[in-house]
Amino acid sequence: MPAKDLDQIVNLCKRRGFVYPSAEIYGGFRSSYDYGPLGSLMLRNVKESWIRTMVQQRDDTVLIDAAILGPPQVFEASGHLANFSDPLVDCTVCNRRFREDHIEERDCPQGKKGCEFTESRAFNLMFKTTAGPVEGSGADVYMRPETAQGMFVNFANVLQTSRKRPPFGIAQVGKSFRNEITPGNFIFRTREFEQMEMEFFVPPAEGPKWYEYWCQARLDWYVELGIPREMLRIRPHDADELSHYSAGTSDVEFMFPWGWGELEGIAQRTDFDLTQHANASGQKLDFFDQATNERYIPYVIEPAAGANRTMAAFLLAAYDEDVVNEEARTVLRLHPRLAPYKVAVLPLSKKDTLSPLAREIYGKLSQRYMCDYDETQAIGRRYRRQDEIGTPLCVTVDFDSLEDNAVTIRHRDSTEQVRVPIAELLDNVSNILGF
Ligand code: ATP
Repeated sequence: MPAKDLDQIVNLCKRRGFVYPSAEIYGGFRSSYDYGPLGSLMLRNVKESWIRTMVQQRDDTVLIDAAILGPPQVFEASGHLANFSDPLVDCTVCNRRFREDHIEERDCPQGKKGCEFTESRAFNLMFKTTAGPVEGSGADVYMRPETAQGMFVNFANVLQTSRKRPPFGIAQVGKSFRNEITPGNFIFRTREFEQMEMEFFVPPAEGPKWYEYWCQARLDWYVELGIPREMLRIRPHDADELSHYSAGTSDVEFMFPWGWGELEGIAQRTDFDLTQHANASGQKLDFFDQATNERYIPYVIEPAAGANRTMAAFLLAAYDEDVVNEEARTVLRLHPRLAPYKVAVLPLSKKDTLSPLAREIYGKLSQRYMCDYDETQAIGRRYRRQDEIGTPLCVTVDFDSLEDNAVTIRHRDSTEQVRVPIAELLDNVSNILGF
């Protein structure tokens, strides 16, 4: 049973060191979060799983890592300076601000009575800052609101250096910043977040085919990593929802405790961005196809996902409570690729006699996997802790291990235990995890 309530995850994240409110010792910094020892590992696993599927396992994509700060020209050409805004309304009664499209039937989103809203006005979501040592005299720069523009402005560089030709993709994972009017729902909407985006460049006639392809491929990715299919849906945008660059967008949505919410948008950006940047920069951003003797500006299909939101969805879907030996436990049934630790090595007792062997085993396993080592508390409590943080396997070293050179592998999901020779441990672990 996945979590029904966001607080189940928020509490677990705080208690076990996944996610903390940012700057908490100063009372917190609204809607910002820091990823702790486990959360930083899991977030990295989400991003690496994306790179694995989108780059490593394909021969038609490459990865880049572009700058976060950009000059106004980039965002002027992309249309973000003029168009990247949300409709802001003020309440004249409670003096709060809301996104107009988050207000249903003029009702206050916070359930307050008697709210009166002003007409909406466009509020640009980009963070602007100044580059240079003297305040007031520097150049205006913007923090990117999406990673996408890094791929467009590097299109010609990548084409020349990577020997790729359409259809091919440029992928990027990194931070983006939006001055959201109403951040909230834990890590679902924050002003600083990480995106996992791919610009897939295709011959214009192949646009619709690749759009279909990416909608399905992206949905499959979430299912393969453990989200039940019925908690996901693909929702095509209505015409009035489309971004300024899009000729058609579908969202992959997840059933959050408050309802369906977007994890990823798959957009047909056509040749909009490359044309805009070619015109603004005076550089050629097209492709010459020697086979057909044709020169064209590729069309772009963009699957754009958020790493933090996706991590929240994986946590919610993996959350479970069950009863083992008449004792209630909380267990995160995370896919092994996403779990912060793959294996926990647990000497049965803290006695010095077991530590050397347990540490030797930890040393071997940690060459290949992120592992935990824990010799505090009773073994049952240590199993519960590993269950709660989603560790798929525990390896227990006991006094018999010193005689029979074997250890016990305990499975998180079934709590089943199997004895295996230490010499075969790595193979066993790899077979169970699947990597
Ligand atoms: P929303 O409608 O929820 O504001 P969006 O349609 O503006 O999202 P996109 O521009 O399509 O979002 O960005 C791609 C992905 O980046 C989103 O699907 C989401 O996962 C992530 N994302 C966007 N804004 C935020 C945010 N403020 N906090 C966390 N993740 C975000």
